[in-house]
Amino acid sequence: MCIFCKIVQGEVPSRKVYESEQVVAFHDITPQAPVHIIIIPKKHIVTMNEVETGTDDAVIAELFAAARKIAQELGIAESGYRLVNNCNEDSGMEVSHLHFHLLGGRKLGSIVS
Ligand code: 5GP
Repeated sequence: MCIFCKIVQGEVPSRKVYESEQVVAFHDITPQAPVHIIIIPKKHIVTMNEVETGTDDAVIAELFAAARKIAQELGIAESGYRLVNNCNEDSGMEVSHLHFHLLGGRKLGSIVS
């Protein structure tokens, strides 16, 4: 089972900020910004490439709704934030379970490096 599935199952602890039937969000263990939240579907979707149009539409919509809600709740909606998805090797993706990074709380640098 992947590390994010273990977080979903409660086998690995996390600092959750959002949870619903289909989605969970928690603080990144190695934050890159004052706010660094990982937002994931509970379903083990490997990457964006494996998202199935139709079947996964609702959960993808909820990932974005969760990001908006969390940004509001953590006070970064107006100052600004970045929502990042890594996909496969060239992106530097480390955990092969679809996730979005919600980053904010400081002025962020270049989007690529
Ligand atoms: P990726 O590079 O795959 O897009 O990002 C994976 C992210 O997951 C990294 O920012 C990393 O710090 C975070 N991460 C990896 N393992 C854990 C964990 O066990 N708990 C938490 N909270 N975050 C993790």
